[in-house]
Amino acid sequence: MSENTLYDLIIIGSGPAGATVARLAANRGLQVLLLDKKQELGAPIQCSGAVSRHGLEEVGIRPDAEFILEPIYGFGIYNEKGDKKTIDYRRLAPEKYGGSADKSPLGYVVDRRRFDRHLMTLAERAGAETYLKTEGLGYRPQPDGTCEVDVRRFNEKMTLRCKVLVGADGLQSVVGKWAGLRTQIRLTELASCLQFIVDKVETEGLLEIITGHEWAPGGYAWVFPKGHGYAEIGLGVIPTVTELNAREQLDKFIKQSFFGDRFKNARILEIQGGGVPLAAPLKTQYADNLVLVGDAARHVNPITGGGIHTALSGGKIAADFLVEQINSGGAFKKADLKGYQDNWLEKLGNKMWKLYDEKTEIFKTEDLEERNRKLYKIMSDYFSPDSEYKKI
Ligand SMILES: Cc1cc2nc3c(=O)[nH]c(=O)nc-3n(C[C@H](O)[C@H](O)[C@H](O)COP(=O)(O)OP(=O)(O)OC[C@H]3O[C@@H](n4cnc5c(N)ncnc54)[C@H](O)[C@@H]3O)c2cc1C
Repeated sequence: MSENTLYDLIIIGSGPAGATVARLAANRGLQVLLLDKKQELGAPIQCSGAVSRHGLEEVGIRPDAEFILEPIYGFGIYNEKGDKKTIDYRRLAPEKYGGSADKSPLGYVVDRRRFDRHLMTLAERAGAETYLKTEGLGYRPQPDGTCEVDVRRFNEKMTLRCKVLVGADGLQSVVGKWAGLRTQIRLTELASCLQFIVDKVETEGLLEIITGHEWAPGGYAWVFPKGHGYAEIGLGVIPTVTELNAREQLDKFIKQSFFGDRFKNARILEIQGGGVPLAAPLKTQYADNLVLVGDAARHVNPITGGGIHTALSGGKIAADFLVEQINSGGAFKKADLKGYQDNWLEKLGNKMWKLYDEKTEIFKTEDLEERNRKLYKIMSDYFSPDSEYKKI
């Protein structure tokens, strides 16, 4: 890391979004610096780690035992009374997903510490310079068309230079704020999520999703397999529509739901939590010498809250655009970077906006029974094999 180098890209945040931009841009010859303020990537874990196989493969990440905790073969979607729709790809297409070692699972539950470290390693092997314990502090576009980026590595402050700064710094993004982008999120759209890693709860290779206002007001609950016989039991709630906080709501779900019997011997091994935006993507995701990607741009599925796949895909869209822009000698003012968002909207974003509109319609429904029915339907449709949203 040198103050004398003009980097093509400086990327702040080495989660799935930032590490993907770094790897794909470095692979194609750009000079890339990837920074993260953490000393251990992915820790503390604030994610259930469910990601589809095609989400990984579409950005060139080979599923690897290093980070996979459990293969996933489908979904179990429950309504508030416990009626279940099973979408098990091992039965729908046994020739593809038969469940034996040589068949490909539909997706995986990954360990985010090992996954994020793996992604950073791939970026480094592609030629990016990578640094932990290095925090982005601010940026300033310069009259010569480049920009300065202030960072602190351990206790040392430095000013670096690049053509484009990529803000991949997650939900609490500060990078967008530096550029004056409207990154605020409404409380009514921020799910408060909590999950317990438990022993002694049976799972069967499916992601189980439990809908219903009673169990998870404004969101849904889940039971995911975690490998080695462990499971994740969690939920996300919108605090403005419930008197109970996420912990109280999770206790209620564990003790009072139709899973009471199944959970009765559950032993809690770990507690994890965090915020998930069930919100619209940012209306503007670029500024002079700057683009945002991943959670920082709210590239999160507003119905499922899933953000790994969308961070990876958004990372690829950003890398493709920036490589082209830099290699063709393009400029980096706001207007020059608009094409990134246009590409993103066309490939992904317009579908996310549509999902957002559908979600908003559902939660506007005052009649709770009707709302439960609609949420159960959209979740069941969403995960069905012929869903138009399968690739989000
Ligand atoms: C409880 C919970 C469960 C979830 N479960 C799932 C799931 O099962 N499947 C799924 O797809 N999604 C899930 N999500 C969402 C998913 O975790 C995020 O959408 C995803 O991590 C977004 O990736 P990202 O790269 O944009 O940001 P992040 O993964 O948040 O990475 C951002 C990085 O930026 C770094 N950073 C921040 N500020 C700075 C700075 N100033 N300087 C340097 N570095 C900085 C951080 O240290 C961090 O490493 C879950 C979220 C929660 C809270």
